[in-house]
Amino acid sequence: MTLPPIAENLERVRERIADAAMRASRDPDGITLVAVSKTHPWDYVSAAIAAGQRDFGENRPEEALEKIESGIRISERDNLQPPTFNLHLIGPIQSRKAAIAYACNPAMIHSIDRLKIARKLNDLAVADGQVLHVLLEVNVSGEASKAGFGPDELRRTLPELLDLPALRVHGLMTIPPFDPDPGTARPHFIALRRLRDELALAYPHTDWSHLSMGMSDDFEIAIAEGATHVRVGSAIFGPRA
Ligand SMILES: *Cc1c(COP(=O)(O)O)cnc(C)c1O
Repeated sequence: MTLPPIAENLERVRERIADAAMRASRDPDGITLVAVSKTHPWDYVSAAIAAGQRDFGENRPEEALEKIESGIRISERDNLQPPTFNLHLIGPIQSRKAAIAYACNPAMIHSIDRLKIARKLNDLAVADGQVLHVLLEVNVSGEASKAGFGPDELRRTLPELLDLPALRVHGLMTIPPFDPDPGTARPHFIALRRLRDELALAYPHTDWSHLSMGMSDDFEIAIAEGATHVRVGSAIFGPRA
């Protein structure tokens, strides 16, 4: 099986990020490209690492952990240095998968979408003497099928969330409803930024600097509206099976 042209795709996505940043008078270094490798095997991740990519997104903790372990095994077999990368968990985490998510040693969890999972992850980190860096996922559209806190629910829950000693909140994340026209995502990105600005005034001691928003079809719009993390899968790795 031949791999897609991952190095070229990454180069192209990086150029598009730099152009979008320039048009928005933003520093491209303030935007982290999270390469979403879900459903693809370790070879794809390894090819992206070889092309200089460091941040990867996975949406299922078990799949992430298996992939990391296979990467370590393959590096050992080939007498290579252990791979270095930052893992971002971007999908909903079921309570019974919290320990697996924790075992992935994520650099950032983008998808804290309810108090229960926040508490579970906090307990794991407290017991381990560690902290977890997280974003709070918001369902700004109010679409019933989407994960995430509703804006009012988040306002109500925030005092409790910010009290969890081992969770370090760094901002918000959203996934707009799917629409074949990427332009329809813009109001959702604007709504997320405005909610962030509001929360930053209300809770000035928390870091609200990060906004995780934008995927393959709409990351340029997200950058124009303030994204600091774009989660890009198919534009780098090709279509998913
Ligand atoms: C799969 C996924 C992405 C990447 O989607 P593409 O359209 O392939 O870029 C981004 N964010 C989340 C939460 C995902 O699950």
